[in-house]
Amino acid sequence: MRLTVLGCAGSFPGPESACSAYLVEAHGFRLLIDFGSGSLSALQRYADLNAIDAIMLTHLHGDHMLDACNYVVVRRYDPAGPRPPLPVYAPLGAAERISAAYSADNEPVDDVYTFFRLEPGTFPIGPFTVTVDRVNHPIETYGVRVEAGGRVLAYSSDTAPCDTLVRLAQGADLFLCEASYLDGMNNPPDLHLTGGEAGEAATKADVARLLLTHLVPAWGGEAATVEAASAAYAGPVEVVRPGSRYDL
Ligand SMILES: [Zn+2]
Ligand SMILES: [Zn+2]
Repeated sequence: MRLTVLGCAGSFPGPESACSAYLVEAHGFRLLIDFGSGSLSALQRYADLNAIDAIMLTHLHGDHMLDACNYVVVRRYDPAGPRPPLPVYAPLGAAERISAAYSADNEPVDDVYTFFRLEPGTFPIGPFTVTVDRVNHPIETYGVRVEAGGRVLAYSSDTAPCDTLVRLAQGADLFLCEASYLDGMNNPPDLHLTGGEAGEAATKADVARLLLTHLVPAWGGEAATVEAASAAYAGPVEVVRPGSRYDL
């Protein structure tokens, strides 16, 4: 299994990075997890414009799904002819949300996407066994556990601390975890994690490696975030970058 980071900026695109988008590949199958603002550009830089076999949107905040709207043009108007519909695994309402953002008259996009509603559970996507469950964020949001060939990638999506996150990440080889907030600040509850909280989740889940994402570059604090995560988790910690690749 291979993870390629297309975008990792939290909440809005940063100067060097698009918003959340992660390409996960195994046996030639390419699953795109989240498709945030600006990541369609990054897709062409780090992969191929058509290098997607399925999409999962963990929730319907713009920084995790808006480029699924722009991608309609890519699929529908390919000079070689329309591409076959792509499966999209997403919370209820994704079709309406994408079509509303794509056109003022809510033009359907079911020629481009076939939607499957996410619900807590385990199911196959291509060669992957995927488990999703609701995490602690203001709208319906799914943390993700992806397994293939005995290897495990866990992704927090956006969440505040919760038991579900630790369960999904249990024993993961790679734990891709958001760390939006700075430790020691008066952060609002039930939204996001700090670096320290990401580290605590990594320790509880006994993961092999912690990858921090969804930092907000404009608001600074990367060094402090890594320090706080490393104080709470003894394993290797790093902040992901656009174009970072991890083989597991
Ligand atoms: Zn986000
Ligand atoms: Zn969010």
